[in-house]
Amino acid sequence: MFNEADLGTSKVDAAATNILAKNSKIKLKKESRFLSSENVFELLAGFDLVVDCTDSLEARYLINDTCLALGIPFVYGALHKFQGQCSVFAPGGPCFRCYMPAFASVPTCQMTGVLGVLPGLVGCAQATAVLQLLLGQPSPLVGVMQFFDLLTFDFYKIAIPRQADCICSAANNYAQSVPLKSGPLESMPVRSISVQKLHEQLQKPDLTLLDVRELAEFRTMRFKNAVHLPLSQLAISRSSIETALALSNQESNSESKSGSVVVYCRSGQRSKQAVRILQANGVENAFNLEGGIMEWHRAFQGEGLDSDFDAID
Ligand SMILES: [Zn+2]
Repeated sequence: MFNEADLGTSKVDAAATNILAKNSKIKLKKESRFLSSENVFELLAGFDLVVDCTDSLEARYLINDTCLALGIPFVYGALHKFQGQCSVFAPGGPCFRCYMPAFASVPTCQMTGVLGVLPGLVGCAQATAVLQLLLGQPSPLVGVMQFFDLLTFDFYKIAIPRQADCICSAANNYAQSVPLKSGPLESMPVRSISVQKLHEQLQKPDLTLLDVRELAEFRTMRFKNAVHLPLSQLAISRSSIETALALSNQESNSESKSGSVVVYCRSGQRSKQAVRILQANGVENAFNLEGGIMEWHRAFQGEGLDSDFDAID
C-alpha cells in the first residue's frame, strides 16, 4: 500500500493516492479522523461491511460493538511478529468479544515488529473475505480464526465458540429491530431541545434525563437524578434501554413516566445517535439536548448539576 515517497504524509492520503494509482475507477471517500465513541456510528452507519485494519484493541472493540448494533459484518485482520490472523465477525455468528472477552494488554505492531510480507498476506485474505461477503457467498471464516504462521509455514484454523453471556446474544435481537433496511440510522431526523427550554422544564416530575457518556464523565459532572447508560451499551441491547427507563421510574417513585426523555452527552453528538436508537426502539418522546451538558454549564453553571467530586462551579 505504501512507498518510500509516502514518508511524512498521512496514511489516509497516501492510501487514497496509491489505491487510485492502481485503479482510477474506484470511488473513495476520505475520513482523516481518529475513530472514537463520539464518531463511530456516524462513520460506520450506512455501509454494507467494515474491514478492520487497525492496530489497537480499543478500536477493535469499538468496531465490533458498532457493527453488532448496525447488523453488518466486519472483516478482522491482525498481525503479531511472524503470525497473522483473519476472521469474519458477522450477525448470527460469534463476535470479536466472544474471541477476546477481556480487555487484555496486547502489544501493538509498533512494539513487537511484524515481518514485512505479513500485512500483504493477511490483507489479501481479508480482501478475499470481502469479495465473498459482497457476492453473497457463504464465508468460511464466520466462527473461525484463520492463522498464518510464516516462521513454521503452518496455516491452520481454530473454531470460535459463541459465548452465551456475550453482548452479541442481545445484539442479534437488537439489530433486527432497527429498521436499517428502510434507510440508514444516520438519516433519521432527531428531535432536539435547547438548554433554555430544558431549564424551563427541569422541575417537571415526569422528565427523564438520560446520560449516554462513559462512567468517568458521568461521575465528574452530570444532571441531578440523571440515569446513566453509555451509548456503547445503549447501542447493543434493547433490554438495557428498558432497564434504564424503568430505573428512572423507580427512583422518582412514579408508576410510569410518560413525559419526555432528554438525552445528553458532552456536546450533543453521541446523544443525537442515542436518540435515533431510542426512536428505532419505539421510544417516541426522546429529545437530544443541543450542545450537551457543556452548553448547559456555559448558560447556567452548576445549576441542576451534580458530581462525585468537588463543587462544579
Ligand atoms: Zn460475542
